[in-house]
Amino acid sequence: MSAYLPFAVRVLRVQRLSPTFVRVTVAGESLAGFAGHGFDQRINLLFPPGGDAGLLPTGPDWVDRWQAVPADRRPPLRTYTVRAFRPESRELDLDFVLHGDVGPASRWAGAARPGDPLTVIGPVAGHPGPVADVAWAPPPGTGRLLLAADEAALPAASAIAGTLRPEERATVVLEVPEPADAIEFDTPAGVTVIWLARSRGERLGPVVRDLLTDLVPVPAGMTSSVRSGRPAERVGGSGDGPAVAPDDGDDDPWDVPEPGAAAGSGGFYAWLAGEAGAVVALRRHLVGERGVDRRSVAFMGYWRRGRSQPN
Ligand SMILES: Cc1cc2nc3c(=O)[nH]c(=O)nc-3n(C[C@H](O)[C@H](O)[C@H](O)COP(=O)(O)OP(=O)(O)OC[C@H]3O[C@@H](n4cnc5c(N)ncnc54)[C@H](O)[C@@H]3O)c2cc1C
Repeated sequence: MSAYLPFAVRVLRVQRLSPTFVRVTVAGESLAGFAGHGFDQRINLLFPPGGDAGLLPTGPDWVDRWQAVPADRRPPLRTYTVRAFRPESRELDLDFVLHGDVGPASRWAGAARPGDPLTVIGPVAGHPGPVADVAWAPPPGTGRLLLAADEAALPAASAIAGTLRPEERATVVLEVPEPADAIEFDTPAGVTVIWLARSRGERLGPVVRDLLTDLVPVPAGMTSSVRSGRPAERVGGSGDGPAVAPDDGDDDPWDVPEPGAAAGSGGFYAWLAGEAGAVVALRRHLVGERGVDRRSVAFMGYWRRGRSQPN
């Protein structure tokens, strides 16, 4: 049995949440076989060209069928987050950033109406393999959590933050285009949410840098220059190589420590997701300048400025 299959669904509801976000609820009997994993579970969506459901591939050999379609009629594929899954009613909530008519996903979401067809590529319930579609995996014993996200990763960050255990301490920094995009969500007692609005000139980078002073102890072997904002030096060594892998490939930057990797930074763990260049810079700061153990940082490029997500 294949671990991932296409699920044919139809739009049930469209709800405008804010200037930037639309929530599209899709439903279908096929979702009886969908495995909801919670947290930042990612799925792929296939958008039907011209709204023609007949062009959406089905069945276990969907990849071959999809690739066989001439490129100009092939349904575009994009990655999204399961904001909520309600198995009892076979419904999925998907929160889309409306970033204009420039990409097929944003264009589809901006025009979505009840009844429109869509295909979700997702995990099959009951499949015995490991869960591979959830990046959130802080090691046991993590004491301080930092989540930093822009609007594309807001659905994932809010899904994670809403389900943390009461004893977990998390700071969640969310950069959205407008103040009105601060879509409140329920959080357990240990979660602090900081909203930033780009229209007010507020940015993830500087705010996260300031927060780190309290969240991350200066590690042994790292001079206290980090406190003053100057580049940190390692004492007695050349460091452990570049902070991030070279970032000139086609793939978005993505590095998620193995689940269960030892926490090496005083129980601190960071989950960074959003525009590729921004998360690379943040990760470089944490690992290269603050001395945070790279196994304590998950970073994920969700989109790349000026570039379509590759099919
Ligand atoms: C694991 C994962 C989970 C994701 N979850 C979500 C989610 O729940 N909701 C969500 O909205 N997005 C999410 N994304 C991001 C989404 O996949 C990308 O934004 C995707 O590029 C959108 O496809 P598109 O067809 O609209 O634009 P594309 O055809 O991919 O791009 C066209 C142009 O739009 C620009 N662009 C793409 N995305 C954005 C953006 N967000 N803001 C501004 N400009 C943009 C590109 O730089 C390009 O110039 C997720 C990505 C990943 C990897």
